[in-house]
Amino acid sequence: MSSTAKRDYYEVLGINRNASQDEIKRAYRQLAKKYHPDHNREDGAEARFKEINEAYEVLSNPEKRALYDRFGHAGLGGSVGVDPFGGFGGADPFTTIFDAFFGQGVRGSAASSRPHGSDLRVEIRLTFEEAVFGTEKEIEYRRQELCGRCSGRGAEPGTEPVRCPRCAGKGEVRTRTPFFNMVSVTTCDQCYGEGTVIAIPCKECRGDGRTRRSVRRKVSIPAGVDSSIRIRLSGEGDYGPRGGPPGDLYVHLQVDEHPYFVRNGYDVILELPINVAQAALGDEVVVPTVDGEEVLKIVPGTQDGTTFKFRGKGVPILRGSGRGDHIVVVRVKVPTKLTERQRELFQELAETMQSESGGNQHEGGFFSKIFGRG
Ligand SMILES: [Zn+2]
Ligand SMILES: [Zn+2]
Repeated sequence: MSSTAKRDYYEVLGINRNASQDEIKRAYRQLAKKYHPDHNREDGAEARFKEINEAYEVLSNPEKRALYDRFGHAGLGGSVGVDPFGGFGGADPFTTIFDAFFGQGVRGSAASSRPHGSDLRVEIRLTFEEAVFGTEKEIEYRRQELCGRCSGRGAEPGTEPVRCPRCAGKGEVRTRTPFFNMVSVTTCDQCYGEGTVIAIPCKECRGDGRTRRSVRRKVSIPAGVDSSIRIRLSGEGDYGPRGGPPGDLYVHLQVDEHPYFVRNGYDVILELPINVAQAALGDEVVVPTVDGEEVLKIVPGTQDGTTFKFRGKGVPILRGSGRGDHIVVVRVKVPTKLTERQRELFQELAETMQSESGGNQHEGGFFSKIFGRG
């Protein structure tokens, strides 16, 4: 975290203090798109992008938001920007998390203070082409879901909960805080504020309200992703105990290497070996791109390391418009084995080159000193 004074998170997202979760999400998505380092290379855009993510991480989380509302930045201590997967704000600003907004996403009814379920993580392997053009994948994973026997209540069917012994049924606990020397009222952590606890736990889930089940989900992978991208499926993680709101599912992507292509951001790089004759005389060769074959005109006198660019034939910009380029890097291969005929021709060639240059193209210069010719 930087040591400079932090801006107000509501100000950062341009929303007022009683903004709804939807308004927060909308403001975040708009700003994150605008300042994403892949779309915006202006000075300060990256810092702004981090700030936006940090503000969103806090304000989108009801617990953190409540702390922030009461105590400002001080209320959050060092906990901001630390994502369980290193995704937000902190170490790697280029790691992007996309919300995939699943249909039945049921993240946190704000009223409930029950603990959330855990976030889960799955990994999807993608071919190079799938990452470039996007795809849809089906995943199967196990998560804690509502127990069918007790419908997530945790109480054995037919039994009733009893008064909570910790808070005597009040649902809240009063403690004196040493820091402010005030009485603080917190929600009872045994009954989650409901004033009652389970007397006879459900036989199926032993009172936890959850059972582990295998679920299948379709995940839409947008074009232009790479291995740094995480896709978040809201509410698709574990359910919380006793009907608590579910955590999220984070989909990590693992993109396979391609036999010829290497990605550099949104550009695709291809190393193209050509021989000395093609380099000297020029040629037309067919090269692969992610769109299929293209004809590349090699101009006479092409040097090793020369690059040719097919504009807009690279990777589609993730959630943006346009595409990167397809870049061909020419590698001039000097033959290591020659046939008798080739050797004769090279010798002949060498003679013509000596007579043409008088044996020394750089008379008196740097090269004549090194090679001592002439
Ligand atoms: Zn149960
Ligand atoms: Zn209680």
